[in-house]
Parts: sequence; structure tokens; C-alpha cells
Amino acid sequence: MKNTTLPTLPKFKSAAGSNFSRELRANVESYFRKADISKFANGALKFKAILLLVSFFGAFALILFSGWSTWLIWSLCIFLGFVKAGIGMGLMHDANHGSFSKNRLVNKIFGYTADFLGVSSSNWINQHNKLHHTYTNIYEHDEDVNGKGLFRFTKDAPRKKMHRFQHIYWTFFYGFLTMGWFFADISAYSKYRKKGLNKKQGVYKAIEVGTIIFFKLVYISYMFVLPYLVLDFAFWQVIIGIFTLEFVAGTILSVIFQMAHVVDKFDLSNHDKFDGTTKDEWTVHQIHNTFDFAVKNKLLTWYCGGLNFQVIHHLFPTISHAHYPKLYEIVKETARKHGINYQEFKTFREAFISHLVFLKKLGSSQFA
Ligand SMILES: [Zn+2]
Repeated sequence: MKNTTLPTLPKFKSAAGSNFSRELRANVESYFRKADISKFANGALKFKAILLLVSFFGAFALILFSGWSTWLIWSLCIFLGFVKAGIGMGLMHDANHGSFSKNRLVNKIFGYTADFLGVSSSNWINQHNKLHHTYTNIYEHDEDVNGKGLFRFTKDAPRKKMHRFQHIYWTFFYGFLTMGWFFADISAYSKYRKKGLNKKQGVYKAIEVGTIIFFKLVYISYMFVLPYLVLDFAFWQVIIGIFTLEFVAGTILSVIFQMAHVVDKFDLSNHDKFDGTTKDEWTVHQIHNTFDFAVKNKLLTWYCGGLNFQVIHHLFPTISHAHYPKLYEIVKETARKHGINYQEFKTFREAFISHLVFLKKLGSSQFA
């Protein structure tokens, strides 16, 4: 069927005649062949998945049945926010990329953790796997750099006066990420359908919409109705608990995502408005628009599901993040050999500051 809804998809420079992509893939394949290991999750990652899920349900059970004080319950909501972000980054993300298990059904089941936590996995796959991973950092195609008018994440987005303060007010708005997803899922679904990303028709369409609504009801039932019935809390106290959890998770997820793509390593003075074709082949475009950070920080790598090895993730999204530290060496060396600038921040702090500096620059009239 001819697709008439996306007439101006960005084009990448042809990779024909370039040895880089071919050599990169050959080097990575050779590593897995020699090491004789699977590209999917290893034992440590499966353990992490169990730990995250047990932590989530364990903390939730404590909230419902421990009889703890209001302040301790509130602390558990903060903890749940951290765990929710951890599940999103370390399990849901892998499963929906198909990198957690070689068994598609297992990936599908763990991919539903998104739905259980309030976000449609079908929309996530469209927005993240298909759009963000293909058209990384390209305005109007990668929704991660669509600040919806509230933020200016790329020079291609129009500047508003309020953006002058975006390096300050992010502290308030980043926390609304997951809540925004929760409420926008139905409209997001119809948007992706118009773009031709959901191809199934007829009864399948009803099943897709029904699944989204079903999981919204599941989320409302266990997040709101259940605590409201079991605990001796008022309506507004339960809402504050949910808000706390979501705000913590939203802030963590936003910051981690942004530090990998929206940072002050771009030379804005040299940045021409995107004209529909990138100067780079797809692989190089990914490397030029993606940044690693704090790759030696094992705790961070563990918690954020290898998203600090973002370059590796973008080049090999179907390989489990268990293997990113090894692939990092291989990709970096291959890029160096071909004169491609592999960009990274040594520490979390460095990347975080770079993101804020970039927000400030994009908000200033200098780069209008
Ligand atoms: Zn991804």
C-alpha cells in the first residue's frame, strides 16, 4: 500500500561506498562469535529484572499492608518512582527492543511492563523504536526533541520568549513525562495510526485500542482504587502519593534521555536548518547525534540499563545492554580508525551540566 501520510521522511546519505558500517557490524559479529555468547540478557540482567519487579511489588505491598506512618508511606512512593524508572530503563526498554530474550513471547510479556506502569507499549514502540531510533534528533520526526512549545531542544524548533527560562523550569516540567504519556496514549495512538505506523485494520484496531483502555483501567485500579479502599487515606493523599511516584520517575527518565542527545557538544553557530537529507549515512548520523556518559560508573550503568552507553544502544538496539561495555571498546576503536568523532562525557555531572548549558543557549535570543 502506498504511504501518502509521510511525504517528507528524512533521508540519510547512502552508505554505499562506505566501509565504516560494514566493518563495524563485522567487528561486532566477530566479537560474539569468538566469545561464543548470546546477544541477549545474561544471568546478571535476569537477576536485575527479578530484583526490580520484586522491589516494585514488595514496596507496593508495604504501602498497602505495613501500617506505617504517612511519611514512611510517602518515602515508599519516592522509592517506587526510582524503581519504576529502573524497570522502564532496565527491563521494559530492552524487552520492547527485542533484546532481553531470544524468545519473542518473553519480550512481549516483559514489554507489557510499560502498559502495567501506565504507558502503552504499542505507542512506546512507535515513538521510541521507530521514530526516535531512526530519525534521532531530527525535529518533527524524533518526538524526543519535540518540546511541544514548552521546551526548545533543537535549533530547528521555533524559539519563544519563555524558553529564556527553560534551563530553570525544566525542574518542574520534566517530572510530568510519564503522566503526560498516561493521558496522551489514546490521542498518540490515533496520531501514529495516521502516520501509518499501526498497519493492522479491522478487528485488530479495536484490539489495539481496547488494550490501551484495559491497561489504563488496570493502572487506575491498583494505583488509585486499591490504596484508597485499603488505606485510611483521603482521596487527595492517594493522589499525592501517585503524583510523587510519577514525578520522580518522570524526572529521572527525562534527564537520562536528554543527556544522551540534547547537550552542548553541538556547534550551534555552525548548525544549518535541516533540509530533509543528512550529510551522514545513518550509522554516522547516530554517532554524531548521540552521546555516552559516565561509562565507567558501574552503578549508573546498572541502574539506567546501559542508557549511558547511548551510542552503542543506538547502533545496536537489538543487542542486550549486558554487552554494551565490550561493544563500546569495539565501536570506539572502529570509529577512531575511520576518523569519526565518538562523543562522550566522562562523568554524569559533566553531561548534566552540558544539557543545562545547551537548554540555556537554545533559549537565548543569540540562537533564535
Ligand atoms: Zn532505545
